[in-house]
This record gives sequence, C-alpha cells and structure tokens, in this order.
Amino acid sequence: NADAAMYVAKESGRNNYQYFTAAMNARVSQRLLLENNLRQALARQELALHYQPQYDLHSGTLVGCEALLRWRQPEQGLIPPDRFIPVAEETGLILPIGQWVLREACRQAQAWQDAGLPPLVVAVNISAVQFRQANLAALVQEALAASGLSPCWLELELTESMLMEDGERHTQTLAQLKAMGIRLALDDFGTGYSSLAYLKRFSLDKLKIDRSFIRDLPQDAEDAAITTAIIGMARDLGLETLAEGVETEQQWSFLAERGCAQMQGFLRARPMPADEITALLGRHRSATPAND
Ligand code: C2E
Ligand code: MG
Ligand code: MG
Ligand code: MG
Repeated sequence: NADAAMYVAKESGRNNYQYFTAAMNARVSQRLLLENNLRQALARQELALHYQPQYDLHSGTLVGCEALLRWRQPEQGLIPPDRFIPVAEETGLILPIGQWVLREACRQAQAWQDAGLPPLVVAVNISAVQFRQANLAALVQEALAASGLSPCWLELELTESMLMEDGERHTQTLAQLKAMGIRLALDDFGTGYSSLAYLKRFSLDKLKIDRSFIRDLPQDAEDAAITTAIIGMARDLGLETLAEGVETEQQWSFLAERGCAQMQGFLRARPMPADEITALLGRHRSATPAND
C-alpha cells in the first residue's frame, strides 16, 4: 500500500532507505537467479510442454491442443510462464527456447499420428521476439521437416500487438507461413489494439477470444455483447472462433448458441502432460463411430 509506505518512509527516515535498498537488492538478485537458472533450463531438460485440449463446441469432439510451456526448477519448483517468459524475452533466451517448443510440439503431434491416433492440430505460442526474426518461416520449416509433420496440423498463435508492429516485414513473414500451409491464430483477441484493419490485411484462420470476455458470461451484458459481436464479425470474415477460458456449462451454451466454433477451458480440460493427451485420444477414438 503506497500511502502506508509513504507514511513509514517519513517516520523512519534513514532506516527506511536501508530497507528499500535491501528490498531492491533482493529483487535484483532474485531476478538474476531466475535469469541464470533459465540459461541452464534447456540443457538441464527442465522445460516441458503441457497440452490443453481444444474442443468443437457443437459436436464436443477433441480437435486440437495448445502447447503450453512448463518450467520445473529443481529448487523453486514449478515456475509459471507468466513469470519466466518475460525474462526469456528480455534476455533473448526465448529464441532457443521458442525453437525447442516448436520442434517438440511438432514431434509430439507427429508421434500421436504415428501411433494411429486421430490427428490433432497443435497450437504453438510465438513470442513477439521470435516473430521479429527475419528467418522465422525457415525456422518453422526446419521444425516441420525434423518431425515429418504436415503443416496443416501446425497452428501458430500470434497477438494483435505483433501484427501492429513494422508492417512490411511482418506481412512478408505471415505470407510465407500461409504459403507453407500453416494455420494462423490471433491469441487473446480483444485485449490489444482495437484497429480491425489487419483482420483483412493478413490471412488469419482463427480468432481466440480472450478469457477476460468469457469469464463473466452470460451475466455481464457488455461481455455478452462484445463476444456476440466478435463471433458475428469473424463469421462474416470467414474466420474461425475459439473461446478461451470456458469454465461453466452456461458459458458453453451461450457460446454454442451464438455460433462460436471451438472452446478451450477448465470446464473440459486443463493443460496436461503429453501422455494424458495420448490416453484422451485413445478414448476419443473408441467413442467415435467408425463412419464418422
Ligand atoms: P495463452 O497463450 O493465452 O494461454 C492460455 C492460458 O490460459 C494458459 O495459461 C492456460 O492454462 C490458461 N487457461 C486455459 N483455460 C483456462 C480456464 O478455463 N481458466 C483459467 N483461469 N485459465 C485458463 P499458462 O499455461 O499459464 O500460460 C500463460 C501464458 O504464457 C500463455 O497465455 C502464453 O501467452 C504464455 N506461454 C505459454 N507457453 C508459451 C510458449 O511456449 N511460448 C510463448 N512465447 N509463450 C507461452
Ligand atoms: Mg496461446
Ligand atoms: Mg490466450
Ligand atoms: Mg497470452
């Protein structure tokens, strides 16, 4: 609490300066520790991908999964991506880490297909730092070639702010990726810049409606209006929609009634290790009629 801190600062004078210095030192060394540990994480095989299922909202079929990075640090335990991805981006470590994620997700998707399981689209989050690399398309191509995965099963998740940067180069990268047959999704849609011009400029396949618009559905009238508008606009533009963070049956019905195509959320499944997806796909196959 800022007021309380100010009050303490006035009261304690010089001691307080020492207190702040100590707190700042602690923060800086904590950050350095995180950074140094992150440098080792790949080589020490502390990084893993979990996969969160994505379902067709109408048939309930498992259609895809999003690869989500997990870091199990031996001393600190599981560190959430929201804490270490920003550090990875500032240090450039996101480049080798992001390439590992791409390769690993493609390898896993192909392994499921090789096991005779129903094919799934695997979605991979791309950082703005990765997106700025001139050779992104070649790096993606390399991951596909190493795994043998057909590009139609790979979806890259980009964010609105990435599309707003430096038009020329990004337009070219996106065109290259599309020409390769890779799917493109816009993550956290609705939270970025509100210019909609790029929706027609870039050939995207899917809008992922941000969890913040889904959370208070169906009660919140504004979120209901925004979600309905996004689904309608996407349909008219020929884009698929996926609702992120669906947690209740009421949200599911609301979205299904409005024609949202897919969902991803704790209501159906949390992110899980690859072997749990394998089991899920196995059950899914036996539950699906042969003539489906
Ligand atoms: P995101 O790409 O928007 O991923 C969805 C996040 O929402 C995941 O958090 C997921 O666990 C969470 N989520 C899904 N369904 C629900 C739900 O029903 N309720 C709630 N409360 N949360 C739900 P996670 O795994 O902690 O990832 C956070 C963010 O970290 C991701 O957001 C993404 O921006 C970033 N991230 C994760 N993995 C990678 C990666 O490999 N590369 C990059 N560049 N970023 C990543
Ligand atoms: Mg994502
Ligand atoms: Mg998202
Ligand atoms: Mg995000």
